[in-house]
Amino acid sequence: FVHQLADESVGMDELLISPLRLEPQPSLPLPADLYGAKRANSQGLDLAVASMREPLLAALASTPVPAVAEASTAEVDSASAQAVAAFAGWNHTPVAERAATLRRAADALQQQLPRFCALLLKEAHKTWGDAVSEVREAVDFLRFYANDAERVMAPTTLPGPTGESNVLRLEGRGAWVCISPWNFPLAIFMGQVAAALATGNTVLAKPAEQTPAVALEAVKLLHAAGVPANVLQLLHGPGETVGAALVAQPGIAGVVFTGSTQVAKIIQRALAAKDGAIVPLIAETGGINAMLVDSTALPEQVADAVVQSAFRSAGQRCSALRLLCLHEGIADHVIEMIQGAAKELVAGSPAALATDLGPVIDAEAFEGIGRHLTRLHAEAKPLLPAAAPATTLPNLIPPQMFEVKAIADVKAEIFGPVLQVVRWGGDPMDVIRQINALGYGLTLGIQTRIDSRAQALAAAARVGNVYVNRNMIGAVVGVQPFGGEGLSGTGPKAGGPNYLHRFCAEQTLTINT
Ligand code: NAP
Repeated sequence: FVHQLADESVGMDELLISPLRLEPQPSLPLPADLYGAKRANSQGLDLAVASMREPLLAALASTPVPAVAEASTAEVDSASAQAVAAFAGWNHTPVAERAATLRRAADALQQQLPRFCALLLKEAHKTWGDAVSEVREAVDFLRFYANDAERVMAPTTLPGPTGESNVLRLEGRGAWVCISPWNFPLAIFMGQVAAALATGNTVLAKPAEQTPAVALEAVKLLHAAGVPANVLQLLHGPGETVGAALVAQPGIAGVVFTGSTQVAKIIQRALAAKDGAIVPLIAETGGINAMLVDSTALPEQVADAVVQSAFRSAGQRCSALRLLCLHEGIADHVIEMIQGAAKELVAGSPAALATDLGPVIDAEAFEGIGRHLTRLHAEAKPLLPAAAPATTLPNLIPPQMFEVKAIADVKAEIFGPVLQVVRWGGDPMDVIRQINALGYGLTLGIQTRIDSRAQALAAAARVGNVYVNRNMIGAVVGVQPFGGEGLSGTGPKAGGPNYLHRFCAEQTLTINT
């Protein structure tokens, strides 16, 4: 290790993890009413799952997955007209009342955690740990946006000359279309809807086709908490028809979308082509997320962070690690450790409490990932055993890892448990430049014990969320505001202090007194 430091031209005093640095760093107090703040690590989550074993298993046995009906064109038109008509009433409801409604929904969701976990397990193939974590995140979104709407929507008195008062006030914009993906069918769905509702907007929500029942139950819960039926409406059906028809509605005031970059661009083009007002789009999309590991990094820490980030949730997280950039001096050792750790992961039925990763969402995803695997087997060096042939459990893909020659070889987001590894030497800033050149900008991991290097690499990276010396998944609402730039999205960051502004119209009121 001392030789490595000499190679890197750094002294012991620059190390990020030294006895002195182990003192806790000062930070702000955690928000008291957020769950996420308390679930700092995966061990905490495992304990939570273990402590709820009985209610979770009982819910699995007793929770049906309700069927849903696809919305017709006439239903989309009618829902849109109702959402536009309902806007004035909801917008004029005091923000404290809207926030109280969302807090009631948060309390109900917290109480019904086992039932929603069971739904997530059955419909989205979530493991128990991922399901518990997702319900908690949805609760956090409800509480965070309720609290934050009260903060941002309070009128601000601005300085001005004597004899004049100037006040900036925020209100809703109108009817919002909320389009969400299947990979966080409760948390992302709830986050989008809660943000729009908290700020006085009405909502037309279109969940992913793969996970309509989770959305249906979430909407029922919000209605039961007091959100009027015409203020929040749910429209099921394919994105290409129902989603596109919603985006095309003449009266809508905004679209919030989470999903692929490709569909975000389709929506952006459709909005630009419409007559009338300029309609804002918030798009949170995919990423080719990299982790840069230098020769001073702790191999055990790297292996753990890589396995968590690349393979948990079967790699079906937008934040998941796709491209591991290993310094050539430690690459062989780290790869060996990852191989060992990956073999320990249990891939199987989500219903088993011991399962670490379940099947990917459906046969279409399985086949799409399979095509990438075939290509990688031809072009790259496999570092883990090939995916097992079909088992009795469909769509199961065990962790896969390939060594590629260059960062530029990684061209697409593979939305599954597939990691590509590249070796580097020389200047780590060159590595960051090559990662930036991929055009995405969602998450980045940095593993180094050189404090100044971590800061410089983070500053040079064009990404929304940087994680140093830890895994790079599981952003906590209100603690790690989440979202990217470039091909990864428009911002503002979900779960952050600037998110709600985008859902609001601003008015400056100047009165000559
Ligand atoms: P997707 O195919 O883009 O679908 C997302 C949503 O858009 C679905 O509800 C889909 O409906 C709908 N849709 C499809 N075509 C549409 C159109 N022409 N007009 C309007 N809506 C349309 O994405 P996905 O496969 O569900 O999700 C995975 C992607 O989401 C990955 O790229 C992942 O990285 C990204 N993601 C990003 C974040 C983030 O915060 N940045 C979070 C989670 C996921 P259908 O289901 O009916 O097709």
